[in-house]
Amino acid sequence: MMRRGRKTKIVATLGPASCSPEQMRALFEAGTDVFRINMSHNTPDSLREVQARVRRLEADVGRPIGILVDLQGPKIRLGKLPGGATDLKEGDRIRLVREDASDDPAVLPIPHGEVFAALKQRHCLLIDDGRIRLRTWASKPDSAEAIVELGGTIKDRKGVNLPDTLLPVSSMTDKDRRDLHAAIDLGVDWIALSFVQRPDDVAELRKLVAGRAAILAKIEKPKALESLAEILDLSDALMVARGDLGVELPIETVPGRQKEITRAARRVGKPVIVATQMLESMIEAPGPTRAEVSDVAAAVFDGADAVMLSAETATGKHPVEAVAMMDKIATAAENDPLYQSLIDATRLPPEETTADAIMAAVHEVTHTIHARAIVTWTKTGSTGLRAARERPEAPIIALTPLVETARRLSIAWGLHCVLTEDAHDLDDVVHRATEMAVHEGFARTGERIVITAGVPLGTSGSTNLLRVAFVGGR
Ligand code: PGA
Ligand code: MN
Repeated sequence: MMRRGRKTKIVATLGPASCSPEQMRALFEAGTDVFRINMSHNTPDSLREVQARVRRLEADVGRPIGILVDLQGPKIRLGKLPGGATDLKEGDRIRLVREDASDDPAVLPIPHGEVFAALKQRHCLLIDDGRIRLRTWASKPDSAEAIVELGGTIKDRKGVNLPDTLLPVSSMTDKDRRDLHAAIDLGVDWIALSFVQRPDDVAELRKLVAGRAAILAKIEKPKALESLAEILDLSDALMVARGDLGVELPIETVPGRQKEITRAARRVGKPVIVATQMLESMIEAPGPTRAEVSDVAAAVFDGADAVMLSAETATGKHPVEAVAMMDKIATAAENDPLYQSLIDATRLPPEETTADAIMAAVHEVTHTIHARAIVTWTKTGSTGLRAARERPEAPIIALTPLVETARRLSIAWGLHCVLTEDAHDLDDVVHRATEMAVHEGFARTGERIVITAGVPLGTSGSTNLLRVAFVGGR
């Protein structure tokens, strides 16, 4: 039986370096819980292909695997460069054109009309997460002249941020709508919305999705932080998207915002992913830097639900090693003697509901009697998330009759999801919970587990019962 030795989940982005069935299997075995498909580099056709591969892998390994489809959003990207890359030197004069491609290294293609419509003189363009900086000195409706302030090598399709330019765009483009449609048809588990600026952006997506997938808001614009509570209220999860956030905000303020976003999501019991550059140097190198290890561990110590790999697994040279490294760092942090006290220090009191009161009691009881596992019954996933919100020491087994719920919950802290048939009565619940705890390798005969359920069974959101059970007895 396949069980992870950690509670923090790992999201790995698929790409050319990782999309063969063998590589995907290796990524899963190394610790990937959720696969992210970045629509910035995919079409509905390639999405369909990759989605089918994940589902085949899921069937092979017999464990639910989450699929997160990340909509590109109104992200500005370069077009195609001659030979795939161009070297820019400080002081170089270059031309920006509204084209898909360029065959002249001194001409940069930006296939976005809205950029040229809004670009003015002395505006700054940040390319590839701010690694390269340009400043315009003239602009026309379809082109602009710029000077390189910070040079480097730029590659095809790299992102462009325009901190000085007010772009009149919604957070869903026509491409996003087509991609969303395809993703929903395929039954993917999570849809991530990029460049959310206002609660309305999320509300718009929620309406289109209509419950057929869970919704994740990527926090990567300073504007989104101004209405974080409302955005969180309309979302099922958040991502601290540090790539764009670190370009659009002074970079030194990002760690504080990461903690703010993590805490806000934990308060309401919705999953939060910390993303971008977590093991960046492993794109090239076989091992991480000390600072990267510390960064992943810091997210784990903050109680984030998941940590994410982007280019490390999508295009890097060591995708499997990157996941294995993340697994090791998260496991070590969770086993550190200081871990529980750090998690407890940021624990938030239960909300005033029966379910939360039961979960607080579950946490307390499990701790006191050293129960081996917590078993929750969850149909919509809500009970599972309320249990995870407590961040208890014992592993949580979430039993659910719905494969969609098992897949969605694969992103959430501490939940080991198992598919099972609906239970007939309370005895059946207890019987199945103990059996499952043994079968999944969490408990042995004579050990205790803590079970939660809602009676009458089958009513969603009715968690009102806590039961301690001995394995192999009553
Ligand atoms: P991206 O989002 O990889 O789609 O840009 C993550 C981020 O901005 O950090
Ligand atoms: Mn981004």
